[in-house]
Amino acid sequence: MSFTLNDLPLRDDLRGRSPYGAPQLDVPVVLNTNENPHAPSPRLAKALAEAVADTALGLNRYPDRDAVHLREGLAAYLGHGLTADNVWAANGSNEILQQLLQAFGGPGRTAMGFEPSYSMHPIISRGTGTGWVAVPRDADFRIDVDAALAAIAEHRPSVIFLTSPNNPTGTALEIADIERIARAAPGVVVVDEAYAEFRREGRPSALSLLPDHPRLIVSRTMSKAFALAGARVGYLAAHPAVVDALQLVRLPYHLSAVTQVVAVTALDHADELLGAVDDLRTERDTLVGWLRAQGFSVADSDANFVLFGEFEDRTRVWQDLLDQQVLIRETGPPGWLRVTVGTAEEMAAFRTALLKATGR
Ligand SMILES: *Cc1c(COP(=O)(O)O)cnc(C)c1O
Repeated sequence: MSFTLNDLPLRDDLRGRSPYGAPQLDVPVVLNTNENPHAPSPRLAKALAEAVADTALGLNRYPDRDAVHLREGLAAYLGHGLTADNVWAANGSNEILQQLLQAFGGPGRTAMGFEPSYSMHPIISRGTGTGWVAVPRDADFRIDVDAALAAIAEHRPSVIFLTSPNNPTGTALEIADIERIARAAPGVVVVDEAYAEFRREGRPSALSLLPDHPRLIVSRTMSKAFALAGARVGYLAAHPAVVDALQLVRLPYHLSAVTQVVAVTALDHADELLGAVDDLRTERDTLVGWLRAQGFSVADSDANFVLFGEFEDRTRVWQDLLDQQVLIRETGPPGWLRVTVGTAEEMAAFRTALLKATGR
């Protein structure tokens, strides 16, 4: 007798749903989840190990529930006159988003996003019982602000997600567009800036809007630019009242002492880590130029990945690359594929495999 998920008293709104599931396959060239390809340097790894060893001596005690030291460090890193009161941290920005939906979404409320975008926004919304409204982006993956304002007027969302630079398209939003949406929003506006550090010159962050918009929230992560995906550290910047609201839903001691000290140590090495980001941005721009020269359609990218196409059978191209030991991501609009920017060697392997897969 086989007992399955369907036999459990699962919530009706979770029946038939699929979990988040980027494949985790053991291949030499992994370019599918927008990780930073650079492992911590020996210098940083040593500093991390020493900090964790120190912290280990106090693990009989609960961690600082308010993660004050870490929040001070994150505020200093962000600049813009922000202090620890403006900043909140959690186990990845996914937990930040979940806490935001627990506080500002929930049953009877609606969240809105502009798709294609990050698949976790609707998944976390549904997980917290929040309704989801998707508004399509236009053909070049921009948000049509007039259409956005009409959708906001119609649905009155409690939470609006703006991903900039957007995943999986790489598209950055104009500050003026964010501002127009923020002015029209009846609830909170979350600008997911997971890829902020990778944006091209002259593209401002929504952090500059915070002083004038107390219901605007900027979410960031150490998973991408700081090359710390394995440590699970995300954070937000907002009005201190938003941080107060999250205290009502966060679990006590949610951020372990080990996580906090690892994040603080990584912040101490920000210069080294952000230097590698510059290399990845250059590699990204080279990749965009190369793909275009081969005749592919390529979305402009302000992130550490590139969306390209268009393929009649993208699954075949994805599989052919995987057969050549290169893992990319089958995501985004039909016919498109997404590749994360890796090291120069990894990108060379990707280019060779793609040429072979597409017979160019
Ligand atoms: C990768 C990513 C995140 C980061 O999630 P973490 O939980 O911080 O690892 C958040 N938002 C978007 C749009 C992403 O692509």
